[in-house]
Amino acid sequence: MAKNIQAIRGMHDVLPQHSPLWQHLEQSVAGVLASYGYREIRMPILEQTELFKRSIGEVTDIVEKEMYTFEDRNGDSLTLRPEGTAGCVRAAMENGLLHNQTQRLWYQGPMFRHERPQKGRYRQFHQIGVETFGMAGPDIDAEVILITSRIWRALGLDGLELQLNTLGTAEERATYRDELVNYLQAHHDLLDDDSRRRLAGNPLRILDSKNPAMREMLDAAPTMSAHMGDVSRAHLDFICETLTRAGVPFVLNPRLVRGLDYYSRTVFEWVTDRLGAQGTVCAGGRYDGLVEQLGGKPVPAVGFAMGLERLVAVLEEIDPDAGAVSADLYLVLMGTAAEREGLVLGEALRNALPGREIVCHCGGGGMKAQFKRADRSGARYALVLGDAEIEAGTIVLKPLRSDEEQFVLARDAVVATVVERLSA
Ligand code: ATP
Ligand code: MG
Repeated sequence: MAKNIQAIRGMHDVLPQHSPLWQHLEQSVAGVLASYGYREIRMPILEQTELFKRSIGEVTDIVEKEMYTFEDRNGDSLTLRPEGTAGCVRAAMENGLLHNQTQRLWYQGPMFRHERPQKGRYRQFHQIGVETFGMAGPDIDAEVILITSRIWRALGLDGLELQLNTLGTAEERATYRDELVNYLQAHHDLLDDDSRRRLAGNPLRILDSKNPAMREMLDAAPTMSAHMGDVSRAHLDFICETLTRAGVPFVLNPRLVRGLDYYSRTVFEWVTDRLGAQGTVCAGGRYDGLVEQLGGKPVPAVGFAMGLERLVAVLEEIDPDAGAVSADLYLVLMGTAAEREGLVLGEALRNALPGREIVCHCGGGGMKAQFKRADRSGARYALVLGDAEIEAGTIVLKPLRSDEEQFVLARDAVVATVVERLSA
């Protein structure tokens, strides 16, 4: 017999027992974003490879070794999106969303990176991201950070740490970069292979290395702050002050750099210690250079993306039952006449009880088997209908979560009684 086909390594199914928590997460985030006036944008999952090369940058982990790139039947090079910012900027430019206007956008969906799969790191993973355009001041940086903080509160997530840094302007970063490269070259013998490779193309990213052997040397490396101009400093100060006044604690982390080339000024990450090495659940910052880099007129931009698999993992760790859902009512239906009646009664009950979960037993089977299903559904009550009840014009209401006795109802009292019971 042929071997069963399995999912691609690093790509996972969200099973029915987990999807309620995913929905809860997605709906909570969408609710918070709506409350700040952000609008959803949906982009294709495939884009031209060139888009990511030009935006993320050739000398990044993503473009160098993580993209799912292939030729389609026309010989065009396409890539499954590894992140959402590039596609969002492309869509905004292409649809004229950036001309003399501001935009507050969000998106969600799967992203694809060919990384080594491990806990919190997958080849298909999901993000909800925010991108804002047309606002140059630090107010919008502060707003997007406040949004993330409110999202954690809405989810009941505590213990996340906000880390904040500034990468300055492109010019400030260039002088800092020279100083950093000099320092790193002086410690060349301590650099690992990855870092040596990055020294020419993406030296800031070396600061982000997780290699413990380089920790001490990197801790002593020069920081950006000496190269920061007044405007950049005022920009950062505004954000810090706003967060403080709004009661959002943060730590300034001069080592925080983002892996992507297009960031400028503000960068931030939310980190948890609950997930081991994969502790960053949300990352973002300002990327004023990107629109121009993609061929448009310069447009200031700020955004972030959160990793949903990591958030789901934290939510589950805090509360293993988080997101669990159960039925309210289960209809046990014995015999063909009852099956026919039951489906119609189910409709009447759902009309009277919007939002409640009412499950009609389908597929037949004995009383015992049906009650087993009813019990597994988590329903508080079962309604039992068989030939005898049909003939008598009655139905049996049986509490499933208490010792209370079952009782017989007249058929025309069923809906009112169930409404009363479930509202209690
Ligand atoms: P890391 O340093 O963990 O590789 P990154 O800098 O590559 O993260 P971003 O591109 O900033 O990540 O993506 C934003 C968020 O998306 C991350 O903070 C993380 O929560 C999530 N994320 C990124 N890559 C993965 C992945 N392979 N699997 C699961 N989640 C991911
Ligand atoms: Mg990465």
